[in-house]
Amino acid sequence: MRPVQLELLNTKSFLAGGFDTAIVPIGACESHGDHMPFGTDGLTSHALAVKIALACEKTVVLPPHYLGMSDHYRHQPICISLSNDTQVRVLEDVLGSLQHWGIEKVLILNGHDGNIPCAEIAARNVKVRRKSMSIAVFDWWVILQQMLPADTFEVWGGWGHAGEVETSIGLALFPELMNMADARGQIPTRLDGFVKEIWTFDEITAHGATGAAHKGTAEKGEKIVEVVVRYMTDYMRRFERDGLVYAPVDATEYPGG
Ligand SMILES: [Zn+2]
Repeated sequence: MRPVQLELLNTKSFLAGGFDTAIVPIGACESHGDHMPFGTDGLTSHALAVKIALACEKTVVLPPHYLGMSDHYRHQPICISLSNDTQVRVLEDVLGSLQHWGIEKVLILNGHDGNIPCAEIAARNVKVRRKSMSIAVFDWWVILQQMLPADTFEVWGGWGHAGEVETSIGLALFPELMNMADARGQIPTRLDGFVKEIWTFDEITAHGATGAAHKGTAEKGEKIVEVVVRYMTDYMRRFERDGLVYAPVDATEYPGG
């Protein structure tokens, strides 16, 4: 297999790879119930990143970040969290290092909800300071509702932390680390779909998981992997070739303008 994982390369093989684009997979270290490993989010984002990079030409995958911003997941042993400020600084430093070595096109592939604000703040801060960079952020689960048939998941739209979706992708990507005999979660009776409500995890479930973990299957997980990798491979091939070039046209020349 063509090497695309930075931690497995050396100077010679890195230079031979001709990489000019990078994926930074980020995750967290926190309980995902008793049926999934602490590192679920980094394991998932890294496995997806490697599959995507292998389908591209000049994209290298950075080592997964197994620590993220998890302050709201201190519900049961064990959670090792970076503060928001630290996580922003870590990502800014990674983006700056990549640019130093000529890698100006960078995708942050995020596997954890607590990293959403940090990744965006870091990316925006670096973009303003280093305008020639093309920086994109992708939370892998956001496309599922649009890209998979509505009946793919059985309970609560598949959602949840270590819920039906995440359990399924774990069964597809790292089945040897899963223990379905212990899969259980709760679904909060009310959570608004549009207002951003700020909870700590112990307030919305008594388990280490929300959603229907027991409904996860490897078959559903393979569908998730297939759709995410297909979408992001198409995106990354364009990103690798052009970076973020928006080529605006005058509104009067726009179809229907
Ligand atoms: Zn997770």
